[in-house]
Amino acid sequence: MKAYLMALDQGTTSSRCILFDRTGTIVSVAQKELKQYYPRTGWVEHNPVEIWSTQMGVAREAMEQIGVGYPDIAAIGITNQRETTIVWDRNTGEPVCPAIVWQCRRTAELCDRLEIQGYGDMIFQKTGLRVDAYFSATKLQWILKHVEGARERAKRGELLFGTVDTWLIWKLTRGKVHATDYSNAARTMLYNITEKQWDTDILKLLDIPPELLPEVHDSSYIYGETDPSIFGGSIPIAGVAGDQQASLFGQLCYERGEMKNTYGTGGFLLMNVGKEPVFSKHGLLTTIAWGLNGQITYALEGSVFVAGAAVQWLRDEMGLISTAEESEQIASSVPDTNGVYLVPAFVGLGAPYWDPYARGILTGLTRGTNRSHIVRATLEALAYQTYDVVTLMEQEAGIDKVSCLKVDGGASANDFLMQFQADILQAEILRPQCIETTALGAAYLAGLGTGYYRNVEDIRGNWQKERSFVPKRSACQREELLRGWNHAVSQSMMPQRP
Ligand code: ADP
Repeated sequence: MKAYLMALDQGTTSSRCILFDRTGTIVSVAQKELKQYYPRTGWVEHNPVEIWSTQMGVAREAMEQIGVGYPDIAAIGITNQRETTIVWDRNTGEPVCPAIVWQCRRTAELCDRLEIQGYGDMIFQKTGLRVDAYFSATKLQWILKHVEGARERAKRGELLFGTVDTWLIWKLTRGKVHATDYSNAARTMLYNITEKQWDTDILKLLDIPPELLPEVHDSSYIYGETDPSIFGGSIPIAGVAGDQQASLFGQLCYERGEMKNTYGTGGFLLMNVGKEPVFSKHGLLTTIAWGLNGQITYALEGSVFVAGAAVQWLRDEMGLISTAEESEQIASSVPDTNGVYLVPAFVGLGAPYWDPYARGILTGLTRGTNRSHIVRATLEALAYQTYDVVTLMEQEAGIDKVSCLKVDGGASANDFLMQFQADILQAEILRPQCIETTALGAAYLAGLGTGYYRNVEDIRGNWQKERSFVPKRSACQREELLRGWNHAVSQSMMPQRP
């Protein structure tokens, strides 16, 4: 039996390749930065050719590092930055313009117009998404409108659309396969997540010819084989999932009610809600977590706009810490924040508040407030924001109380933060040994797709705890802290509006 699984992890800032063995242990990693292009204010682009070349470069490098070749790789799993939109010529393989990255705001006005015209609810009911420029739909519409001749070529069937996974599959198979998985399709704002098909009403509304669209398959499925010219022989491509869904899978959140939080620059919380979608009334998104064995699993997704970014702010703008890691020791040097709260609403507040005009606030300052209190308040804010989203998810999914939260991402390394999170959430925080959960999820999906693993039971034993944090505070202490947080949040929402 072949030894390794290859995960291609195509992220916003880098392309990475990780090789895993059967136990889910990393045996090789290679990474290359991806160049960001900002041609105008608010615009973000990538070069699709660079996405491909960096991804291939790291794949070869990861294999060379441990001296293995294609015969040693059982399957490839792809996980990717979501929503980023690429359109290319079916015959030449040439992209018609740069990739429009998920962060790009060029279609924000278009989205506002859709809302004003009253399409928001219809789109939410069909796609589980709130109309926003993040998602691929309006980016694709923009390309068809602004790239000369694109719409006509698309109608003639000469062009193909894809998110990054689709582009990589197409390149890996040398144009044989044009496909995506349910989790990526669900983030395009073109896919009907209950009917499980591209939505004809939305396609009509945005004037998008269906000829452009990829086939949609299970996340664990043999999409095709790599062309032998790429690795010297063929390897099956058997797992595909968007980054956050892949991480939910890599964290083994296979049961309804299980959830993970990624503490990165922002925070990404996903909860497995089972076989039926749950549509949020308070701004959470509904998405497809994955398709496996012909069965779809849905998730609720909530994000915290500013998580680790608040720690960066302490370091880069406030100069209160010199490294992110240092925040842990400084926060732990005081018994509490001395009544200080920081609400890092730097770009407004997301779920459950949804106030784009909220702004950051530091409250409760006294003559005795020092640097440590502010650093501690910043870390605590990450935990409070997570608490707010988790509580909303519990309510909307009709789940009593989550008993544990699996964590990953840069700031999950912070023990102070994890302990405080356990206290505030009154739940066990579980940090895995392998925090590369995104790549791991893609690898697992690929392993399941090829029979490398027989079923998810084969994988369960792979999840190894690095450390867990259990609640230590009394209910009374916790409630007092939360009261202070809620008060601070209400103050952050008060400033003058335009
Ligand atoms: P992303 O994938 O979003 O770039 P990462 O998962 O790499 O993010 O996490 C980076 C973020 O985590 C940064 O915002 C950084 O400030 C924060 N971070 C990293 N290490 C720590 C730490 N020990 N304590 C608190 N925050 C940290």
